[in-house]
Amino acid sequence: MAQPRILILGAPGAGKGTQSAKISEAFDVEHVTTGDALRANKDMDISEMDTEYDTPREYMDQGELVPDEVVNAIVDEALTQADGFVLDGYPRNLEQAEELEDMTDLDVVLSLDVSEEELVHRLTGRRMDPETGDIYHLEYNPPEDPEVEARLEQRDDDTEETVRERLRVYRENTEPVIEHYDDEGVLERVDGEQAPNEVWADVKATIEDAV
Ligand code: AMP
Repeated sequence: MAQPRILILGAPGAGKGTQSAKISEAFDVEHVTTGDALRANKDMDISEMDTEYDTPREYMDQGELVPDEVVNAIVDEALTQADGFVLDGYPRNLEQAEELEDMTDLDVVLSLDVSEEELVHRLTGRRMDPETGDIYHLEYNPPEDPEVEARLEQRDDDTEETVRERLRVYRENTEPVIEHYDDEGVLERVDGEQAPNEVWADVKATIEDAV
């Protein structure tokens, strides 16, 4: 059978990145993530696209969505090249969901459900090791090595103010996407507030059942 095509939905901080990395390894599919793709191209010139700002950076640092035209092109290109994927961070609004329908069929649509209070706590305490890309949390998962601890960095958009804005954008734009898949009867919900390994057990079982 062809490799599965998996969509993972959920709010910022729900654990999509963590679970997607595990999915990618266990099911041998590509991890396609618009957030990472945009972070790697924050200063790309998008002025030709007649957008409000000239680079993705301005949108991202304020917690706003980068214009659809930019993101759709990134996803289209990545999915064309992938034999099986886990798509993370897209679609973030109904227009993007429509675009995605034209690009590919999906085998599994997962939603990681986490309460808003927990999301704020997770995101504002999140830190990254710039040397390895490993993600830590000041309280839940601090590094043991003091050298690692000293070099940890906070993502530009993980400050409390931007986190609140990202969650507002999520409620307004992305929750309707989740409802859309729910209405179609294809949505599989996973309790994202469990420990990471418990979430993973549920995610893995859900995918195995579906493919
Ligand atoms: P993430 O790492 O998924 O939380 O994404 C970080 C930021 O990248 C978001 O706050 C948006 O500014 C931008 N971004 C990521 N994915 C999308 C998308 N599908 N549509 C628009 N903007 C996006």
